[in-house]
Amino acid sequence: MQSTPLETSIFIGGEPRAARSGALYDLHNPARPTELVGRAALAGKDDVDDAVKAANAAFPAWAALSFGERADLLRKVAAAIAADEEDVERRSEIFTREHGKIRRETMMELSRLGDRFMQVSAYAERLAQDEQMGPAAAGPPFDTIITRKPRGVAALIVPWNWPLSILGAKLPQALLAGNTVVVKPAQNAAMAPSLTLQIIAEILPPGVVNIITGSARDIGDTLVSHPLVSTVNFTGSVAVGQHVMRIASHRLTPVTLELGGNDAALVLEDVDLHPETFMKMYMGAFASSGQICMAMKRLYVHESRYDEVVQGMLGACSKAVVGDGLLPETTMGPVNNAGQLKVVTDMIAEARAKGADVIESGQIPDEALYQGGGYFQRPTLVLDADQDLSVVRQEQFGPVLPIMKFRTDDEAVAMANDNEFGLCSSVWTPDAERAVALARRLEAGYTYLNNHGPMSQDSRAPFGGVKMSGIGRNLGFEGVLGFMEPHTITGPGGFLFGN
Ligand code: NAP
Ligand code: MG
Repeated sequence: MQSTPLETSIFIGGEPRAARSGALYDLHNPARPTELVGRAALAGKDDVDDAVKAANAAFPAWAALSFGERADLLRKVAAAIAADEEDVERRSEIFTREHGKIRRETMMELSRLGDRFMQVSAYAERLAQDEQMGPAAAGPPFDTIITRKPRGVAALIVPWNWPLSILGAKLPQALLAGNTVVVKPAQNAAMAPSLTLQIIAEILPPGVVNIITGSARDIGDTLVSHPLVSTVNFTGSVAVGQHVMRIASHRLTPVTLELGGNDAALVLEDVDLHPETFMKMYMGAFASSGQICMAMKRLYVHESRYDEVVQGMLGACSKAVVGDGLLPETTMGPVNNAGQLKVVTDMIAEARAKGADVIESGQIPDEALYQGGGYFQRPTLVLDADQDLSVVRQEQFGPVLPIMKFRTDDEAVAMANDNEFGLCSSVWTPDAERAVALARRLEAGYTYLNNHGPMSQDSRAPFGGVKMSGIGRNLGFEGVLGFMEPHTITGPGGFLFGN
């Protein structure tokens, strides 16, 4: 399994290069933490400054292109990401080895990134139209144009869990709007993102996409507070998001924050339960070993259907094959890092200690690997969980799911909303009217019906959260507008549009 460790660079002003200091850091395989997968450039503050300046220098010419011209380049990017099948396989394998997630998922992230470039390119025509308002019959006597401008240099900060899909929710949007960017992937998933971003950057004029890898502890504040950075689009944890917002406030730099979630799923008494329903629920909670912001994290079931749902979920969990994500039979890889594993195992231990019924399930074909220091945790259910357990109150971000009972819709809505997060949610019922009525009462930025999670997300629509889950939206047309500033131009009635 050991191959020559790969080294990835940073990319600034159209050129790949080492960090000025020459420093690199090691990335290990979460399935076998002693295995070195490769080394990524460890950028310093001076590299960040170079990257922002390169982006700033490239901005005027990039912003001067028409939306149609930029959309053409986005389509070229989409083609280039997928052009070399062998290289796609290679990046997918590196991604699995540095991250832990299964190959099917790393392939899916790679194709999703390209799909999103294509999808976003289609907004060009709509963006090219300024909004126009003539004098209203009984309203203001003005002719007004509302035009939209790119903000400038956008800092795009990405977490480790779904780095390429998440890039697809902000990078093509920032670019189509006319911004130039500095991208900072997370330390724990830097190589596959950086190799893929390099392909993107090479298609575009030098300086339009710049890539920085390294430790945000050293360079995060330099990036966020840089005087030439005009907007920050951050995806990650609540604590870091709050910090980013504080730092950005010094220059009133606008921030979009996609933070954690603790998504509730409400399963109503009339739900249709089939094996596919349980597979959807299982995937909604356990895909990517549960490390998805928009994963199902609390399952509330009407008391009359509770036993059936528990049996169905136990059945689905028992089919999981937990192990090395490189093996085709594996359906659940390790958790990405030791810290995240500890969060999850601590929650499970607390639930057990407080007397909850905790069931770990799933198959382990390679017991030696599972016990060998990798960050493995089998899919775990906490049955009839007390609402005060941390596995219910906090985001698990790992393969554990609490299941609770409710009696009435009002009770279900109250329990779902009784949480500081408000990212996504789901309602499971064949009754469309009832589903939408309940969805409207949920405190969330997104509600899925009869499904949950990224496999069922409509990327034409805005995505983001309320409450502690963040500020602003990515994806959809709104996701592009978030990278723009309106500029209003007004004259007297008749001056612009005639009488
Ligand atoms: P994290 O620790 O907050 O890190 C996220 C990113 O921010 C990383 O690239 C990190 O770089 C960087 N960062 C850290 N400190 C920074 C600073 N001072 N200034 C600028 N950037 C800084 O989150 P994570 O552990 O990678 O990801 C897990 C969290 O992300 C979970 O809470 C999850 O719910 C959330 N998430 C949310 C969404 C969403 O769309 N709502 C999607 C995915 C994940 P380093 O790696 O170098 O520290
Ligand atoms: Mg972190």
